[in-house]
Amino acid sequence: SVVRTPSVDDLARQILAGNRAMLARAITLVESRKAEHRQAARDLLTLLMPHTGKAQRVGITGVPGVGKSTTIDTLGSNLTADGHKVAVLAVDPSSTRTGGSILGDKTRMARLAVDPKAFIRPSPSAGTLGGVTARTRETMLLCEAAGFDVILVETVGIGQSETAVAEMVDFFLVLMLPGAGDELQGIKKGVLEIADLIAVNKADGDGATRARAAAADYRSALHIMAPRSPTWSPPVVTVSGLANEGLREMWAQVELHRDKMQATGEWQDRRARQQVSWMWDMLQQRLMEALTRDPGRAAHICALEDKVRSGEVPASAAVEDIAKLTGI
Ligand code: GDP
Repeated sequence: SVVRTPSVDDLARQILAGNRAMLARAITLVESRKAEHRQAARDLLTLLMPHTGKAQRVGITGVPGVGKSTTIDTLGSNLTADGHKVAVLAVDPSSTRTGGSILGDKTRMARLAVDPKAFIRPSPSAGTLGGVTARTRETMLLCEAAGFDVILVETVGIGQSETAVAEMVDFFLVLMLPGAGDELQGIKKGVLEIADLIAVNKADGDGATRARAAAADYRSALHIMAPRSPTWSPPVVTVSGLANEGLREMWAQVELHRDKMQATGEWQDRRARQQVSWMWDMLQQRLMEALTRDPGRAAHICALEDKVRSGEVPASAAVEDIAKLTGI
């Protein structure tokens, strides 16, 4: 087809005007790993930078089945009804293996998928967790430039993706299932440490009592942990994503957190810290890419890795060899 490729300036203008088709194209550009696309993506992000940063960035995690998509669908619809523009992004490192992501799947969020004030984008499906989070951060900036003032970043409650998402948002929300007793065992302390709020979902019908009991358990678990901020003790609430119960109260906590943290400067500090760590993440990735761009050199490094694995060459000697080879 002879679709004209818009210039970076054109793209920027159209995104700022809220053109969704252009937003989608820009995200595709940002997700591409072709060198010329990377350059265009960088130019675009530089142009758009002054128009980013105004959204509330909220991460949402929880084990499969906890009700992430149901809750995001309902919460997002509440927010668009209140006049917000909501973008839903996903970080799913397993998509790099399966080639597809179930997170951010439009069919899982039936109402938001047809909501003109919402935009849903599945996880980028290429690269390492670092690559996926880098692409998602850039997509977040594009969405902000396009006028989305709430960004929800969904991730599954396993592995390091939670930490990666917590580090790109202002507020990290953890969904839990009722039935605390056994649940608490399985919960990694790590996720409680990075939660800004815990919501026990499925607090409806028969689940309501168990959800309240679970919430009490999480409250005591949090109580014995040192809070990360003197300003904010993560609240534990019960919600029903299905019945739309407790979600407005939950969102009020997200806004209260922002107001309190902005007043003390902790909100600004968190963002500033994130910017700096993005810089180092990207630099690290860039260096790794540069290191293995030349096929001959990549093969040499692979061979060295084999020798380190078999014990033939010490790791330190391999690093020295690579450093000499690359002049670093
Ligand atoms: P996800 O895997 O975390 O995205 O979970 P889903 O949103 O797909 O939900 C998993 C199952 O739990 C589905 O059958 C939902 O209908 C159900 N579910 C989700 N939220 C609620 C809720 O608040 N109450 C009840 N009773 N069921 C829910």
